[in-house]
Amino acid sequence: MPSVDLSNLTITEDGDWKPIEYDYESRYVFKCEYSKSGRAKCRRCGNLIAKATVRIATPIKWRGGGYGVISSWQHLKCTRVDNPKKFAASKLVFGLPSLKAADKKAVLAELKKAGQPPHLKAIDPNDPNFIRDRELPEVPAPCLLNAELLPYQKEGLGWMLNQELSHYRGGILADEMGMGKTIQVSGYGWQCVRLIEDSRVVAVVGRVLVLALFTYAAVVFSCVLPALLLLPHAVSYTHLTLPTIYSV
Ligand SMILES: [Zn+2]
Repeated sequence: MPSVDLSNLTITEDGDWKPIEYDYESRYVFKCEYSKSGRAKCRRCGNLIAKATVRIATPIKWRGGGYGVISSWQHLKCTRVDNPKKFAASKLVFGLPSLKAADKKAVLAELKKAGQPPHLKAIDPNDPNFIRDRELPEVPAPCLLNAELLPYQKEGLGWMLNQELSHYRGGILADEMGMGKTIQVSGYGWQCVRLIEDSRVVAVVGRVLVLALFTYAAVVFSCVLPALLLLPHAVSYTHLTLPTIYSV
């Protein structure tokens, strides 16, 4: 799929973002509507968008979307444009005519505002903690693991153990390839057995090839595998009572 130009989009009758192909198609920058469920979170402030309040969509690239673009939602009060004086909101915001008059007025007024909304904190890129929402405990590699863990891998291990001790009992460890998910899960298996002090089984679910690589890496990095159950993805496990699952 060719790369999508997010500054040159229209919206179809079904409400989907689509690259402009013909002169008669109107260009839109935002889409607005009343929030349907109250379950979506604002991409700017992270808080829930209340049901039946006006929400604003901006287009983002997403391979799963029909035209490679989907909507990302935010509060009206969290929305700003680059040049509010020149922004023709009545033309560039899809869905305005379907709002109640007062809400339409509120959208036009909000998009005229300049500067950061006061309730949103500015991010200081020089702050070393700016990408961290919260500190994660670093857990050192167990002595039976034949490898030194990098700081973020120790954090990953700490996070998995926290998950295990919480009511969630599991989670999804997702990262780029080659960042050390296998070694973290191996370390987790050992810490689990050692710290939680029962003989639980760690189930690892993955594609067969991934599981083969996982076994190889686990053997390289661990002297002895803890109770590790490798399960291919293709099978449904809902009928089994499994302890903790991390998918690789
Ligand atoms: Zn918000």
